[in-house]
Amino acid sequence: MASSEHPRIAAFFDLDRTLLDMNSSTLWAMHELRGRSISLRQFGRVLVWNALYHLSLIDIETAFREAVGHYRGRLYDDLEAETRAWFARDVAHHIRPGAAEALRDHRHQGHRLVLLTSASAFAARAARDTWELDDFLSNDFPTDDRGRLDGSFITPLCYGPGKVERARAWASERDVDLATSYFYTDSYSDAPMLRVVGNPRVISPDPRLSREARQRGWPILQW
Ligand SMILES: [Mg+2]
Repeated sequence: MASSEHPRIAAFFDLDRTLLDMNSSTLWAMHELRGRSISLRQFGRVLVWNALYHLSLIDIETAFREAVGHYRGRLYDDLEAETRAWFARDVAHHIRPGAAEALRDHRHQGHRLVLLTSASAFAARAARDTWELDDFLSNDFPTDDRGRLDGSFITPLCYGPGKVERARAWASERDVDLATSYFYTDSYSDAPMLRVVGNPRVISPDPRLSREARQRGWPILQW
């Protein structure tokens, strides 16, 4: 648990290819393929979407509409339980060694540890509990009065500029200063948030982010 030694500094972490050495949605798709919840063809589509996402080439809302539609009618609590079991079995061990070290280091300094991810709230909650983070900001899905996903998602999406909006609101409610806070990510889509924090950290970046980081003098780490 974070001490209150420096209560106004947060360390924000992206999940996919930052804390993890791969994309959690690929691992989820493999899980669904094994459980025959999706066909091989649907699995192929997920891989294509992931590749486009990683290259920052897709309209994220279109991708989300496509993905969330698949879960319309599912019980929120069932997805929560399934995701938790999947995370423990298939995901947690994918943490990068450098990430585990950074979490330890920031915790030791008394910083608030916050997951800031475009992944689902199901996955983000599992990550928070597994790695004992202080909080998470992620994407979540409204339910009907029977607790079933209605096929929509909360906007703005926790992605690109939406991450900045979420982080600003979170920080102002908690008297956290973004100018002295950290953000770790691998993706060019996270450039808006990297520009907002005082301590941007670029992790094994994609080529576009690598270029931007060199131009702006952002530290590049290989985890
Ligand atoms: Mg990422």
